[in-house]
Amino acid sequence: MMHTDVVIVGGGISGLYTALNIQDNVKVLVITKEELSCCNSYLAQGGISVARDSNDIQRFIEDTCRAGGYNNSLEAVNILVKESRQNINRLIQLGVKFDMDGNDFNYTKEGAHRINRILHCKDRTGEIIHGVLTSQCKSKKNITLSENVTMTDLIVKNNQCLGIQIKSGDVEDSVSAHITVLATGGVGGIFKSTTNNTAIKGEGMAIALKHGIEMKDLDKIQFHPTALYENSEKQRFLISESVRGEGAILINNKGERFIDELKPRDVVTKAIDKEIKNNNSKYVYLDARHLGKTFLINRFPTIYKECLNRGIDITKDLIPILPAQHYIMGGIKVDTKATSSANNLYAVGEVSCTGVHGNNRLASNSLLESLVFSHRAAIDIGIKLRKLNCDKYKIKKLSFNQSDNKDILINKILSLRGDLKDELYTNR
Ligand SMILES: Cc1cc2nc3c(=O)[nH]c(=O)nc-3n(C[C@H](O)[C@H](O)[C@H](O)COP(=O)(O)OP(=O)(O)OC[C@H]3O[C@@H](n4cnc5c(N)ncnc54)[C@H](O)[C@@H]3O)c2cc1C
Repeated sequence: MMHTDVVIVGGGISGLYTALNIQDNVKVLVITKEELSCCNSYLAQGGISVARDSNDIQRFIEDTCRAGGYNNSLEAVNILVKESRQNINRLIQLGVKFDMDGNDFNYTKEGAHRINRILHCKDRTGEIIHGVLTSQCKSKKNITLSENVTMTDLIVKNNQCLGIQIKSGDVEDSVSAHITVLATGGVGGIFKSTTNNTAIKGEGMAIALKHGIEMKDLDKIQFHPTALYENSEKQRFLISESVRGEGAILINNKGERFIDELKPRDVVTKAIDKEIKNNNSKYVYLDARHLGKTFLINRFPTIYKECLNRGIDITKDLIPILPAQHYIMGGIKVDTKATSSANNLYAVGEVSCTGVHGNNRLASNSLLESLVFSHRAAIDIGIKLRKLNCDKYKIKKLSFNQSDNKDILINKILSLRGDLKDELYTNR
């Protein structure tokens, strides 16, 4: 059995940013089930939202709540927006270089944002931020990054989280920790068609459910309007919302526009779904041709290259798109310090439900949520560690069955959203 002060399960942006914000004298272990780059953070293209200035605070809060159908936690949204700039500044201080326009940032726009307030690194925002956080974590003596180690269970006794069970290859072990942080991401891998890295299968949520830890809004699943259509049903390549933000339009197979492209995601997704069904087609088109070759190649190099590899030149061709599972608004219920209903267990990033997104996440608010609430978690962990008398916890090895975990989550989602029966891998 290993021991550490803090174990963080997940090395996406939320896991790494939590680790970096914990004070240097605390021993932190971060585990990832596959390589570090195998996460949804790495795939994020469009960007990260931030309040432009004090005049934008109220407007940004309103945009977030309007997109979320006013089912958001107002307390959490206030924190998200008000603490956005300080966390972006911290990212810049750590070494992230956002695209600039002269001396100012090159803010872009996405659906349901009333103004341009999204920072980006071309269309590789997640990869760049993740790269900077990874090298920062590697440079810290108190942080150990351990790849290809899977959490198979939480160790919970009398509602106290005492650590985790792990598996690496055939070797099973346990990690005892004063504090456990789940940063295991979303649920895309349990859907037949998703924009997510399919290794991300909701394991953190499933294990938390098994232990009776409080969950919230598991029925609130976001389908992204514009995943690239390919004749396969697994991980679909995303055409970022920022392509529409920069002026691309949606047209049906008769060449007609059918929706305001910058409405919230759920609205655009429903319109596309209706169009596809009405026309008995498999996709509609995104048309970016009028944005110009130089602009498209410079602003969206990854999307240009990935589409070209699939025989679509976005500067000349229409892009066939359809909606695909993208994000889950719900997850492990946490408070504004990211603490869950089990003592000494935190949840950050997509696995958590802070309540900021309500029914439907506003574009580019996920990376921001990951930063703001991971930072808050790290501060609270510092306070809690000082209070804990750690020797009293004793850990017993628990038995574990991985397939049961996944089924628990799928059954729970189905009990809330029977309409998703055909979308989920119910028989695997
Ligand atoms: C294609 C795409 C584009 C996106 N674009 C944007 C965008 O532009 N802006 C935005 O705000 N959001 C965007 N999102 C959403 C955003 O990227 C994610 O919500 C966010 O990155 C989640 O971060 P995370 O740290 O919570 O999880 P992830 O980055 O998904 O990391 C999860 C981590 O958990 C680990 N893990 C999972 N299960 C286990 C286990 N059992 N044991 C050990 N480790 C485990 C994984 O190995 C991984 O390291 C996008 C999402 C996708 C899929």
